[in-house]
Amino acid sequence: MEKIIWPEGKKFAFTVFDDSDLTSLQNGPLVYDFLYDVGIITTKSVWILQEFEIPIVGGSNCQDRDYLKWVQNIQAKGFEIALHNVSAGSTKRENIIKGLDLFKQYFGQYPKIHCNHVGCKDALYWGDARLSGSRRVIYNLLTQFKKMNRFTGHVKSSPFFWGDHCQKQIQFVRNFVFPEINTLKACPEMPYHDSKKKYVNAWFASSDGGDVDSFVKMIQENNQDRLEEEGGLCIMYTHFGKGFVQNGKLNKRFVYLMERLSLKGGWYVPVSEVLTFLLEKKGLTDLSSKQRSDVESRWLKTKIKAGKTI
Ligand SMILES: [Zn+2]
Repeated sequence: MEKIIWPEGKKFAFTVFDDSDLTSLQNGPLVYDFLYDVGIITTKSVWILQEFEIPIVGGSNCQDRDYLKWVQNIQAKGFEIALHNVSAGSTKRENIIKGLDLFKQYFGQYPKIHCNHVGCKDALYWGDARLSGSRRVIYNLLTQFKKMNRFTGHVKSSPFFWGDHCQKQIQFVRNFVFPEINTLKACPEMPYHDSKKKYVNAWFASSDGGDVDSFVKMIQENNQDRLEEEGGLCIMYTHFGKGFVQNGKLNKRFVYLMERLSLKGGWYVPVSEVLTFLLEKKGLTDLSSKQRSDVESRWLKTKIKAGKTI
């Protein structure tokens, strides 16, 4: 794997993409005040509109004035604001377009990054559409065909289609999440373009840490030491709304490990800043058939091995 020379003599890069699930003014400010204090400036996603149907998992959205004000405040401090679908439930095209324009109004520009939220029919290339060829067949068998053709943000004939707007307005979308702290080691192809998924300009991967338990496990001492030694990149996938704050207090192990990490001299900037730097350094990989099959197989194998619902 090509070794990246990080800017300003930094030894490695670490950042987080925070999916908005269960985040509210009760827990969000505690997490972001702490991140700001330790100088780890990351990316928070939002929902713009109140959902039109009951979501599988919800949380605050930008129609709540106080919440919007807080998100704008953390943006002013340097945190990046990104999209986690326009609302927490399935949203049809005309409302998605409205939501994207509102995003621009609230935050000064269209989102640079989008990540799909669970259960939204307007998710792009999600469910079985994440995979191709025999991997898609295996995935459908494992999931008993429950996720087949269910997500249609990229399907032109669907009322949930918005792929053209994603292509015009958004640069990066997350796909695979791996159980490895050095995201670039797990997915050296990133950022990459997949010609079978034309509405996404550049895909990136992440390291698995969906809730506080899996997050602290991933950034445990020996893993963060190895990330530093390898001069690697970690983009954590998480939901800061899931267990990081309990009874009005931050999880102690999270605080300890993040403070430890913050003293290591890494590059701690938002996700799209890291990805833009990677694009300049190593360019955009135009995925070959072999690379597509490799990355899809790697992901599917880790899922099967973990015995997780996929
Ligand atoms: Zn989500």
